[in-house]
Amino acid sequence: MASSKGSDVKHEETDIAVVGAGGGGAVLALALAQKGIKTIVLEQAPGPPRGLRGEILQPNGQRVLDQLGLLNKLPDDATRTVRRFHFCKVGGERLCTVDYGDLPAPYNRAVVTLPNVAHHAILDAIQTQPSVALWYGAAFTGLLKENGRVVGLTAKKGTEEITIKAKVVVGADGAFSKVRQALQIPADLYLYPQGYLIAIVDAPTPVTEAKYYVGKRTILGMFPAAGNKVYLFYMIPTGSYDRVKSQGLPALQQAWTAIDPSNEMLFRALTDWSQTAFMPTGRVRTPTWVADGAVLIGDAAHAMNPHASQGRMQAMVDAMTLADLLPECLASQDYSAERLKRFEHTRRPQITMLQRLADEQVLFWNTANPMVAFLRDRVFRTLDRNERLRYRVLSTTAGLRSSPPFGMADRLMAAGFLPDPAAHAPERTAPGAG
Ligand SMILES: Cc1cc2nc3c(=O)[nH]c(=O)nc-3n(C[C@H](O)[C@H](O)[C@H](O)COP(=O)(O)OP(=O)(O)OC[C@H]3O[C@@H](n4cnc5c(N)ncnc54)[C@H](O)[C@@H]3O)c2cc1C
Repeated sequence: MASSKGSDVKHEETDIAVVGAGGGGAVLALALAQKGIKTIVLEQAPGPPRGLRGEILQPNGQRVLDQLGLLNKLPDDATRTVRRFHFCKVGGERLCTVDYGDLPAPYNRAVVTLPNVAHHAILDAIQTQPSVALWYGAAFTGLLKENGRVVGLTAKKGTEEITIKAKVVVGADGAFSKVRQALQIPADLYLYPQGYLIAIVDAPTPVTEAKYYVGKRTILGMFPAAGNKVYLFYMIPTGSYDRVKSQGLPALQQAWTAIDPSNEMLFRALTDWSQTAFMPTGRVRTPTWVADGAVLIGDAAHAMNPHASQGRMQAMVDAMTLADLLPECLASQDYSAERLKRFEHTRRPQITMLQRLADEQVLFWNTANPMVAFLRDRVFRTLDRNERLRYRVLSTTAGLRSSPPFGMADRLMAAGFLPDPAAHAPERTAPGAG
């Protein structure tokens, strides 16, 4: 990377400039580094993230980490393999059990990590790569353009102004992307009325299987993590976190105990609000993810509701797909939107399908309407009996499908209005691996 100091502006030059070292940007930087491509990554945060966040690595995310040589390096004492997820009705009745063991090996499991563990492994690996510079505390401020094409960006690091000439600028800066704004790509940004209170607690007795409760506008997820830790995901209205806190911990514990009376002692392990965080949920739709000399990946291009359990996984797959295309662009010196569009063509089908599916799940899972809830529970019960449809749903959540899990006839079967002659004949090989 060439570096020079003008008056009080620092000038840099690189092949690829990535804005944001989150789930997508960090993977892209590492994948490019492993191909020896000069990259500068700007991250506005002062250092690697330290806050509470739940991390579930779905099979497609595990595959990405494996390709990067990191999956087997995740510390054993910070990861937990989970096979079975039980969907239950508020109060306790089991509706359906999904078993990741049904998926093709070796990624036939979910991997739950302690907060930020996989992300830190990626960031640490980046720091060992000579062709990548990762700058913390550096915020994107604008694009450099020549003849309408993006040729770099400007940034600020503390009081220092930085100009970076780059062949391609990648906006990996999340749902509220400033790169997207600077590219003048219009975005339909929707904030869902419900977000999640996340908590991490030490279970008094070991928990090995995940549980997910659905009820009248009620969702509580319980996912075992390393040691005796358990993540709790509790749906609350966006903007209500302070109100929930003001009502006190006992009120929250009572609400959870009403959902799952068998885990009262586990809920009592929540003793301080510092064990919790609130995560809002949003969706981004944009007409294009590319411009001449620039690309958007991850939430900047296509944030989705977490019901899909795929937002971060899709940002990682975006990164790997783009990392495969960029060497060709550099070799042919073609950074046009037309060339970069190949990335979008590859990725759009799975993203569009997952965004739609997640929104359908919002409609059925978050509902307060008794008729809709009745249908939802009926579908869960059918899935429990119907291996074929259950495998379709599982392989979609696992990130192994690009096409929708259900056609019209499948929907009627799932709702119990049609018999399914192939109920016990699941297609074991997932089509269109993502
Ligand atoms: C409650 C909840 C649960 C979720 N559960 C899952 C799950 O189970 N599985 C899953 O796959 N996904 C899940 N997600 C989604 C996942 O968190 C996101 O999809 C993922 O983080 C997107 O990655 P990204 O790299 O695109 O963006 P981000 O992770 O948001 O990273 C963007 C980065 O850009 C940086 N940045 C922003 N602006 C600038 C700037 N101007 N200059 C420099 N840097 C900047 C930010 O600091 C940040 O580090 C969940 C989300 C929520 C809300």
